[in-house]
Amino acid sequence: MESLIYHSIFTSIQGEGIFTGKLSLFLRLSGCNLNCSFCDTKYAVEIQYFKDWEKQPIDEIIKKITKLSDNKIKNLIITGGEPLLQIEGIKSLISILKNIFTTIEIETNGTISGKLLFENSVHFNVSVKLSNSGEKKDKRVIPKIIDEFNDYERTIFKFVVKDEKDVNEVIKLQSEFNIKHNKIYLMPMAETKPELEKTANNILKLALSNRFNFSDRLQLRYDIK
Ligand code: SF4
Repeated sequence: MESLIYHSIFTSIQGEGIFTGKLSLFLRLSGCNLNCSFCDTKYAVEIQYFKDWEKQPIDEIIKKITKLSDNKIKNLIITGGEPLLQIEGIKSLISILKNIFTTIEIETNGTISGKLLFENSVHFNVSVKLSNSGEKKDKRVIPKIIDEFNDYERTIFKFVVKDEKDVNEVIKLQSEFNIKHNKIYLMPMAETKPELEKTANNILKLALSNRFNFSDRLQLRYDIK
């Protein structure tokens, strides 16, 4: 039986992107192929936290998720770390869970193909990293993968930005890869509520002036998981 390595399964409100405010069930998978300076989920990324991770057969995970969702939660969010490192396991999981959830979102850094899941009506929140992540461009920007997600109907690109310089980098990437304008969301860089309050207004204005969408981070604003 296939297994998945995960950090946690929990219920909360989706705080970001197009499904903001939706009651959701989160599956946070472990491990990542990047190491961003601003990563706020290091506990699901760095090997020093390995002892807190679970490796479980998929049918066990499905049982846990089904019990917790109690047929009341209809949005499933598979996040990380970088979930697509375990894409084969996710495919098996979704083949069952798509009968329980009406929407399924996958959060990814956009460096690994998600094509295997495109037929499942899954929504992808693709957070391609900018130079503010501290990662080298050839590691964080993979042209073929960006093209794939850009062509897939249920994708948004959610860029973490802190100032106008970052927004200009988004504009450059958009023109380099012809990213569809209405797919782009600017999301303020922040790890705490005070940081969010400091940057969000400016990013909202930059989103408006550049005609981009804006994503808040409700989990920080309201101090929820
Ligand atoms: S891609 Fe996401 S999970 Fe991975 S290191 Fe960067 S911020 Fe953290």
